[in-house]
Amino acid sequence: MSASGTPDEVGNEPAAAPMSPDDPTVSTSRPDLPADDDLADDAPEAEPVQQRQSPDVVLAVDIGGTKFAAGLVTARGELIDRARVEVERDVVPETHYTSLAGMIDELVERAREQHGAKVRAVGVGAAGPVSRGFETVSPVNIPAWRNFPLRARLQDTTRLPVFGDLDAKALALAEGWLGAAQGHPNFCALTVSTGVGGGVVLDGELLDGATGNAGHIGHMIVEPGGRRCGCGAQGCLEAEASGMAIEAITGRPPTEPTYEIMQRTGRLVGLAAASVCNALDLSLVVVGGSVALGFAATFFHSAQATLDEHAKLPYSRGARITPSRLAESGPLIGAGAVGWRGLRRARRGAS
Ligand SMILES: [Zn+2]
Repeated sequence: MSASGTPDEVGNEPAAAPMSPDDPTVSTSRPDLPADDDLADDAPEAEPVQQRQSPDVVLAVDIGGTKFAAGLVTARGELIDRARVEVERDVVPETHYTSLAGMIDELVERAREQHGAKVRAVGVGAAGPVSRGFETVSPVNIPAWRNFPLRARLQDTTRLPVFGDLDAKALALAEGWLGAAQGHPNFCALTVSTGVGGGVVLDGELLDGATGNAGHIGHMIVEPGGRRCGCGAQGCLEAEASGMAIEAITGRPPTEPTYEIMQRTGRLVGLAAASVCNALDLSLVVVGGSVALGFAATFFHSAQATLDEHAKLPYSRGARITPSRLAESGPLIGAGAVGWRGLRRARRGAS
């Protein structure tokens, strides 16, 4: 695979063909997402003026536990505009959808009016779980949405093809494409925010699993007999180290952490990371999410020390835990990556 190709399926792909400047989604012999070496053929000075003025974009949507965000992501992974709304508590499913759709309409209009961009598809990254094919979503932290038919609703609203995946899997795609895992065919991405999500790339492929939910590392048990998790089990990483858990444990929002809670959260994430590296033959774990990134060095030092302590096999020794390089743009670039991947798969399927 090319060093900067995307993790998803590139292992099975022939060398990437140069991107068509007129239509970045046309080629059937390239990886699901553009790679930097493709773009060398597509340098700005060689690019037609028309192309620069009218970029194709994916409307990226991030369904988080406490906020909905949306953005416009080009085929190069540039986030050229963004918006967000808070998720209201204790409202009916339609109220959530109305606030999401309002933001989306506004961004589609801005794409056209302010950026002269053509929106090609919608890409969604959502907190899990999701159903096969992303037909429905049931984010643990949005109780009003249980089996909510998000894909069909977004398709009705936008009249565009809609592709979706779990938020942490979307982040894994983005980190492999443009971030801290660029050039790594084997790694795990973790998001530690309101909840805890994960995505695993093995042999250059983002794992889906039987129902699309592979990589739910938030439900690895890190404290046997510990706090009750939303999933029903006890002591899951999400029940001990998520923003929600931290608020319940400390009585303070995760934006006002103590030194001890930052260290403990790092230790628990390091423990889960070690198990994943040992089980899956990995040596890189990329961590994003507002809690982890907010706890910064204290969190990452503690996580790395715990990982060092528990990853002792010849192949897992020396495994690294590293912050998402895309930082707070990661979720939207990830959702954009899901959209671009979906378009390319659809093209391949149709040809
Ligand atoms: Zn759980």
